[in-house]
Order: sequence, then structure tokens, then C-alpha cells
Amino acid sequence: MSESWPQPRAQPWPHPRQRAWVEVNEDALEANARSLCRSLAPGSALMAVVKADGYGHGAVPVARAAAAGGARCFGVATLQEGVELRQAGLSQPVLVLGNLTHPDELRACLHWQLMPTLSGMREALLCQNLAAGSGRAMAVHLKLDTGMARLGAPWQEGQRLVEAIAALEAVELAGVYSHLADADAPGDGLDPLTQRQQQHFDAVLSGLRQAGLPSGCRHLANSAATLRSPGLHYDLVRVGLALYGHRPAAHLGGELALQPAMQVRARVSLIRTVSAGVGVSYGHRFTTSRPSRLAVLGIGYADGVPRLLSNRLQVLFQGRPVPQVGAITMDQMVLDATDVPELDQGAVVTLLGEDGGARIDPLAWSEPCGTIPWEILCGFKHRLPRLPLQALRQPDGGGQG
Ligand SMILES: *Cc1c(COP(=O)(O)O)cnc(C)c1O
Repeated sequence: MSESWPQPRAQPWPHPRQRAWVEVNEDALEANARSLCRSLAPGSALMAVVKADGYGHGAVPVARAAAAGGARCFGVATLQEGVELRQAGLSQPVLVLGNLTHPDELRACLHWQLMPTLSGMREALLCQNLAAGSGRAMAVHLKLDTGMARLGAPWQEGQRLVEAIAALEAVELAGVYSHLADADAPGDGLDPLTQRQQQHFDAVLSGLRQAGLPSGCRHLANSAATLRSPGLHYDLVRVGLALYGHRPAAHLGGELALQPAMQVRARVSLIRTVSAGVGVSYGHRFTTSRPSRLAVLGIGYADGVPRLLSNRLQVLFQGRPVPQVGAITMDQMVLDATDVPELDQGAVVTLLGEDGGARIDPLAWSEPCGTIPWEILCGFKHRLPRLPLQALRQPDGGGQG
């Protein structure tokens, strides 16, 4: 490898021999954050959920773009994800959505000014002990389980817990929240499960009000709930998928102009011409029915393209669909380019995102795989460099040829 070979994260454009990459449209992320902020109920703010490396887009650039678009704070799943934001110099409030139980983890939260999610009194007391000696209060959010049966204390215990936490002088209750299990359910209006979860959440909040107890910032909504009803917005909404430009369900968010922020591209590494009757890739799951022109791409399931899409995937070349044929392998796949004679070695095709006025959405992958767009987006591996689209468009940006 020559010295000019780029470090994947150091070079903002694809090297002429880069086989595949992910382009991230930071302007789209910023615009999505701005549209979301405009759609919120008065008094409600946007938390950009940037866990799982910003749903595969890169947590730090996503966080920066979301903040520029009006996001007030960030949500991450793990302690390490929170530390990554701090090390990048981001100073906005960060809530760790996952459960931290070890004193070392909570001590790190205090050190890095990350807010842990508490599901009970044990962690609240640990926070009190850690913060009491430190001279600064530790901000926490209390999570209540209103019908998801994952994290959170039973909502019936909400008021008692808030009371107990309020008595800890080194702990600041910065928020009370819950998470909805079925906010993207089909149909107009709120589905019965969401209604029931909201009733439980409201019951706790009104109990707190009557008892004169603090709740801090109240929040309940993910993307689906945010798009579904302003009545679910409270003081804050925790938005992931919609920030990245995708609607959680076809019936939600049609009125918002959300732009998908990710494009996945790959380069043709070889063109072959073969006769009719030739079996392609492992297991010969495709056999040519005519003399064919095959194009090999340097991207495979180890990069995050599900092998389940073998023989079912299409890519775009200058806006035209080109079918993938045979088994998708770990590092490569084959296209049938017989009807696309312009597709040559070195040409760039689009697996996900925009190309020549056409677009492929993660839904086109998730549905045949029996999964959801969230899993497709966060499935792209770090073997694919993340490249900011704005840098690619600079006149001296190296081009995409
Ligand atoms: C991941 C997550 C979100 C964001 O969900 P989207 O559906 O992507 O908007 C919100 N809240 C919690 C607790 C989460 O874990």
C-alpha cells in the first residue's frame, strides 16, 4: 500500500481505489433537526438520539449537525458513547439511556457530566455517595416502566422514588421519563397501548404536582410518538430514526420534509462477460439465462449488506436499477449489468440512498429481511469509511469517479 493511501477517517473523499463507503449528508441531518424542532409542541425541546454511532452515521458529526439544527441535548445508550461526545468537545447535556449499575460507571458519569438513567433506589444511593464527596450535584433521570417491561421502575412506585431522590442532597433529579412500546402502531389517533402508557405516566406526573415534588424535564416520545401527536411531546422528545431522515412507519410524518442522510456506495471492481448457463457465486443460486455482463462490487455482508438480500437486491447506477445476482458473499457481490453497458470497472453504484434522481430506502432492505430500518442503518460496519457529503462536493474534493 502506498503512502498516499488514506486513513479512512482522515480523508474526506473516497480514494480512487476505495471499494465502498458511507456518505453522510450533514446538511440533511441539520435540516431534519430543524424541521423536527419546528413541529414540536410549544415548550418542548429536541433530544438527538445518537446511540449506536449515530445509527451508523457517526455519532459526533450527527451530534454537531443536530445541535446546529436546534437539538438541545443528546441521548446515548452506553457510557462509552457519552464519553465519545465529551472527548469531541460537545458540551450539551447527555443522557445515557442504558442501565449503569457499577459505581465505576456512575463515577465516570459524574466525571464526564453525563446523566445516568436510574431505574431504582440502589443506583440513586450510589450517585449520592459518589457525588457527596465531589462538591457537585449529580444530575440523573428517573425512568418509569409504564408498559414496556424493559428498563425503569414500576410506574406505581414513581412518586415514592421521586420523593426519596429529592431527599438526596447531592443528586439532582433532572428528568422523569418513560418509553413507549408501540407508538408506531397502525391507525389514526393513539393506539390503546400508547394511551394506557400515557395515562400511567400522567398519573405519576400529576401525583408529583399535587405533592409539590419536582419532576425535572418530562419526556416520553421516540420518533414515532413525536410524529404521531403533540400531546406526547411534554418537555422533550427523544428522536432517533426521524433525525436520520426516515419515517418509523408509512402513516407517520408525511407532513415533515425529512431527508435521508445516508448513502451507501460501492465501486465496480471487475467486469466479466460470461455465456448463458453460468452459475454465479456460492451455491450457484443464480444461473445466467443469456450471455451476460457481470459486474463485481467490493461490498458484502461483512460490511452490513444482509446476506438474506441475495438475488433480491437492486443497486442504482445513474438513477437506473441494476439487479444483484447470486449469493452475497462476505466482501463482494455480483450485479447483472447486461442491460447497463455503461457500467464499467471503477464506476460507482448506490446501494442505499440517492442516485440520479432515484432513491433506495432502508425499508427496501428491511422488509424482505423481516426486520426494521433501524437494524439496517446501524448494521454498517467500520470497514466502510464514513465520508461527509459536503466535503465530497467541494470542487477540489477529489470527485467520486
Ligand atoms: C433508541 C431510543 C429512542 C429513539 O428511538 P427512535 O425510534 O429511533 O426515535 C428513544 N428513547 C429511548 C429510550 C431509546 O432507547
